Amino acid sequence: MPRRIVIAIDGPAGAGKSTVARRVAARLGFVYVDTGAMYRAVGLWAMRAGVKLDDVHKLEQLAAAARIEFEAGSTRVFLNGEDVTEAIRTPEVASAASKISVYGGVRRALVAEQRRLARDASVVMEGRDIGTVVFPEADVKIFLDAAPQTRAERRLRELRERGRQPVAEQVIAEMEERDQRDRSRAEAPLLQAPDAVYLDTTALSIEEVVEAVLRIVRQRIGNGQEPGQAITPQP
Ligand code: C5P
Repeated sequence: MPRRIVIAIDGPAGAGKSTVARRVAARLGFVYVDTGAMYRAVGLWAMRAGVKLDDVHKLEQLAAAARIEFEAGSTRVFLNGEDVTEAIRTPEVASAASKISVYGGVRRALVAEQRRLARDASVVMEGRDIGTVVFPEADVKIFLDAAPQTRAERRLRELRERGRQPVAEQVIAEMEERDQRDRSRAEAPLLQAPDAVYLDTTALSIEEVVEAVLRIVRQRIGNGQEPGQAITPQP
């Protein structure tokens, strides 16, 4: 079996991780894994079940019991068999995800699942701690970033495209609070791995970022690999 390849993409909210990671995965024929969706799914479950977001014990149980599935070739996410693709995209769920993701037990359950997803397949995995904790040995690590104003605008546009009418101040405040929590938590904080390539996407289009990432991938693994494992981007 050819060696599996792991491409880790980390960065703050609104840096473009999901769109870029999805497109890079499609171009390379790799599996795309959105780890934020997993924390969101557990956050959603906790909210619905009335579990307090500081009840560590119950939250760890939910994370361990959650059956989170990604539909191959689409962006659909299922929690315990239910399609939660839309339900996990609200600012409330984003905030819940960030609150529950500070707990080590919650993280351990989801990290184990993330490693399992990459056991038999080459993946493009995006999140906050992929290059630092989930796959410190990832073949390629990229840290995507953008100016706070740009990240906020992107998040607002994304919510509008989903048919919502976001209040700009609220969304910006929620994002800032979440980023602050993600960067300062003790367990697996958001930070750039020392060997990650930093990419500022502020002035770049999605396509330009995708091309930049693919160039980095080719540089890092295009050479020095065994025959038959060349990365051939799909058109
Ligand atoms: O990427 P997304 O915005 O969907 O992530 C939602 C939240 O889940 C983040 O704000 C973060 O708190 C948490 N998360 C995490 N580790 C990851 C991915 C997401 O802690 N690998």
